[in-house]
Amino acid sequence: MYKCKNCGNTEKFIGIVSEKGNAIIYQHDPPKNNKSNCSWIYHLSGNCWKYKIKVQQCACCKSTKIEKLNK
Ligand SMILES: [Zn+2]
Repeated sequence: MYKCKNCGNTEKFIGIVSEKGNAIIYQHDPPKNNKSNCSWIYHLSGNCWKYKIKVQQCACCKSTKIEKLNK
């Protein structure tokens, strides 16, 4: 769990996520007025799924002073 030291935000951050594992991948063209950038959908396949999350910045106040909390 992460927390912004500046504004106390605990919900939304900017950072990098990388995932790796087995998946079933569906490709589709998003509708022209679709505001989301979702152009790929995948279903997880099997239990072998690895991910890394690197939180860099608070999405609310743009502070980079992010504290990592233990749950
Ligand atoms: Zn903040």
